[in-house]
Amino acid sequence: MCTTVGAGDTPFGISLWSGRFTQSYLGRRPPRRGYCFVVWTGRHVAEPTELDPEEAAGYWSETLAVCRAIEAHYSPLKMNISLLGNGVPHLHAHLVPRYREDPAAGGPMALEDWRFDDLDPEDPEVLEADAASLRALLEAQSDIERAP
Ligand SMILES: [Zn+2]
Repeated sequence: MCTTVGAGDTPFGISLWSGRFTQSYLGRRPPRRGYCFVVWTGRHVAEPTELDPEEAAGYWSETLAVCRAIEAHYSPLKMNISLLGNGVPHLHAHLVPRYREDPAAGGPMALEDWRFDDLDPEDPEVLEADAASLRALLEAQSDIERAP
């Protein structure tokens, strides 16, 4: 993840936005529509506890900015933010919008929904249109800064 972050689209997601602290992506095989992930772009860090206070504030501000864009575009009932990293130990957050018709409403997403390779890919045209809307919503947020 260290080596691919910031280098554009990946097999897992299309690049959404580059901030001072993070790179965000819209997932190609979303467990729920609008699933995004936000990757720390500084030095190699596995745990958020390794960030200094300024880095931590920047990381969270940019992660929450992506959550706000998801909320504005998809109108989920609830956002789930998961910091796992058991499989890929480089700091990243999974942002999962949860909807009224969610199959696991009232609890965490089922384990099989984390097996991204087994999930259906989103229609590429839908993905591109959603990404354009999310980018515009991110650009409109004044509390975050683009990567220099
Ligand atoms: Zn790393």
